[in-house]
Amino acid sequence: MIHFVGAGPGAEDLITVRGKRLIEEADVIIYAGSLVNPELLRRAKENCKIYNSACMTLEEVIQAMEQAEEKELTTVRLHTGDPSIYGAVREQMDILEKRNIAYDSCPGVSSLCGAASVLNLEYTLPEVSQSVIITRAEGRTAVPERESIRAFAAHEATMVLFLSAGLLKAVEKQLIEGGYAPDTPAAVVYKATWPEEKFFLCTVGTLFETAQKYQITKTALIIVGEVLSCRNYERSRLYHPEFTTEYRKGKEKQ
Ligand code: SAH
Repeated sequence: MIHFVGAGPGAEDLITVRGKRLIEEADVIIYAGSLVNPELLRRAKENCKIYNSACMTLEEVIQAMEQAEEKELTTVRLHTGDPSIYGAVREQMDILEKRNIAYDSCPGVSSLCGAASVLNLEYTLPEVSQSVIITRAEGRTAVPERESIRAFAAHEATMVLFLSAGLLKAVEKQLIEGGYAPDTPAAVVYKATWPEEKFFLCTVGTLFETAQKYQITKTALIIVGEVLSCRNYERSRLYHPEFTTEYRKGKEKQ
């Protein structure tokens, strides 16, 4: 059995209880060495075989899994954040299916949420933005044209960019050309929840300059949108005294 497990954004205690148990029980762990906190591996059994997938190809990862399966061992494939976001898990799962190897998934705290916690941020403020666009700049991996940053920027919604810290000159240009005003609030959050975490508040027009100044080129999220600074939002309907819900009867308007 293979368990795909989300390791969380960095801090050792931001893994789920289930994920921690799976690590403790695993015979084999294949972890994404570039971004998974190695402290998590201290929970592994003494005789657990540990691979760092940063130095492996997909084929080698699958081979390690198959070898474990032949011996009827339990494998944890440990991915950073939540495996469903830029986790390259589908390609592994498809091969496992073809080879009749059983697998399941255990979610993790994405850096999307880790970064919000660093900033005490609510991505979705009533009347400001009710949507979060999760995307990335085009790098070696192509992004479909209909999903270009320029196209998404037209919504002026909250946007979170993964895998883009080294491409901010182009990102900044596309964000502005697409529709965000250059003075729209923005943030660069580096290694959210790790001990070396840093964050910088800036604007869309100063994203590149900010990342350059503080030498942030990777392991950062770029957050864009009025939610970063807006205090002019509508209060929630759910907690409004006049609002009736399944659990609470609202008071009539005086
Ligand atoms: N599955 C992961 C994302 C993997 S893609 C998740 O859910 O978080 C790798 C990218 O995620 C990095 O380039 C960076 O943009 C972002 N990232 C991962 N961990 C991060 C962290 N602790 N702080 C900021 N960004 C992070």
